[in-house]
Amino acid sequence: MAKLIITIDGPAGSGKSSTAKLLASKLNAAFLDTGAMYRAVTLAAMNSGCDLSNVSKLEHIIDNNNFNFEISHGMMIVKINGSDVTEHIRNPDVTSKVHFIASQPSLRAKLVKMQRAFAEKYDKIVTEGRDQGTVVFPDAQLKIFLIADNSERAKRRALELMQKGYDADITRIQQEIENRDLHDTSRKVAPLVPAVDAVNVDTTSLSLEQVVQKILGLIK
Ligand code: C5P
Repeated sequence: MAKLIITIDGPAGSGKSSTAKLLASKLNAAFLDTGAMYRAVTLAAMNSGCDLSNVSKLEHIIDNNNFNFEISHGMMIVKINGSDVTEHIRNPDVTSKVHFIASQPSLRAKLVKMQRAFAEKYDKIVTEGRDQGTVVFPDAQLKIFLIADNSERAKRRALELMQKGYDADITRIQQEIENRDLHDTSRKVAPLVPAVDAVNVDTTSLSLEQVVQKILGLIK
């Protein structure tokens, strides 16, 4: 297991991915975007035409496809059976269906295993998701829980989508974010909650650099 593990959990749009990437580059550490894993399984299931409420079919999808997550030029490249799906997994249609995977204990157990296997390969890792500090790496040296106002999170997500050429109606995006929060916080397995020993950081009025500096201060 990595010698230094920093976990960053929090809801959609709180700044986890950008923070984890910049923090990892400043620390010369690897970073892991675990949401990308849930998204990749969702995409593979959608592509196979499988019924997303059929858990044994979904288990089969995880076991019989080759999911690959590697870091290249500061980005996590996601491949399914050798095909690069890094962009495709961000499609709003995939986003709206991830909860089918995220709510199933047996599927989460398989992804947790992949996440721990990833951490085995590096000395230092910054990992982000919903359950990194609570379930996956309970012994992490530093646990951060990011939060931000709903309207600010919707604005950030809208900007991201517009830059990728997707439609970005802020009211609808905020509604989708709130629905996703509800799924993530209310599921029975690994719900989105701060670990008891996590430090909460509100990113609403902070720049990315300020958030990262705050976390670097905590590390020191
Ligand atoms: O972080 P991102 O928005 O890419 O995550 C997509 C979805 O994957 C989340 O809404 C959540 O349902 C699920 N997820 C999870 N546990 C994680 C990471 C993501 O349940 N560790």
